[in-house]
Amino acid sequence: MKIGGHMSISGGFSGIPERAKSIGLNCAQVFTKNQRQWISKPLNMDDVILFQENSKKYGLLITVAHASYLVNLAAPDNENWEKSIKSMVHEMERCSQLKIPYLIFHPGAHMGKGEDFGLNRIVDAIDKIIELSEVKDVNITLETTAGQGTNLGYKFEHLNYIIEKVSDEKRVNVCMDTCHIFAAGYELRSEKGYENTMNEFQNKIGFEKLVAVHLNDSEKALGSRVDRHAQIGYGYIGRQGFKNILLDKRFQDVPFILETPGGEELYPQDLNVIKEIFEGEIL
Ligand SMILES: [Zn+2]
Ligand SMILES: [Zn+2]
Repeated sequence: MKIGGHMSISGGFSGIPERAKSIGLNCAQVFTKNQRQWISKPLNMDDVILFQENSKKYGLLITVAHASYLVNLAAPDNENWEKSIKSMVHEMERCSQLKIPYLIFHPGAHMGKGEDFGLNRIVDAIDKIIELSEVKDVNITLETTAGQGTNLGYKFEHLNYIIEKVSDEKRVNVCMDTCHIFAAGYELRSEKGYENTMNEFQNKIGFEKLVAVHLNDSEKALGSRVDRHAQIGYGYIGRQGFKNILLDKRFQDVPFILETPGGEELYPQDLNVIKEIFEGEIL
């Protein structure tokens, strides 16, 4: 099983593989820079090389990146939209240096301009990013969202629309966040509800596009459209929901990435629950 967590980069990248291993993780997710700033100083290449060496040494199978939350590719305001595009191009470059193949981001918020406007704006932005970026070894990865405020991506149709409209769909992948889809209204707990959700994902997007799963429980109820993560088994999705997800063969080769409250300090608690589910202790 590929299991990782979002890791802090405050001490640089090179220490991440050893910390991940000590927690019991074999994958990781990082921000490529201070995510509250648009621009950041160039990467320290000694740190980057050591990160790659340590990834091998400590058995890190894959690291993915999460883009800055400042980015809004659906922004109606031109200045903000262009800044967001530039920031994504900048982050693609950093991913490439770090040998990170997937840059995950929330598709964007239309800010009242309507969903059609927002979705087309995102399509145009992605085309621009791919055109402007010299990087060829990093894919843009759309994350499913909870649909808070005017955020797009809370329906599988939204992601499908974007993938079908961009000029190079091979450069676009998908990350499924379990908390987000549940908050957006996709059932995960009952066997039937779970199957309906995953069949819909297969029909609208397809598992072949899926490159990561954000494994989070939800502090808010089904369809609440509120994005609030909970530790695995302690939210509304609960152990039954995670049993469906974790034992589903369709996720066998996809990295699960924890983004649960408490971060690195509390991931061991999430891992214990995951272990219990695998050992059948909660059946
Ligand atoms: Zn997420
Ligand atoms: Zn979230």
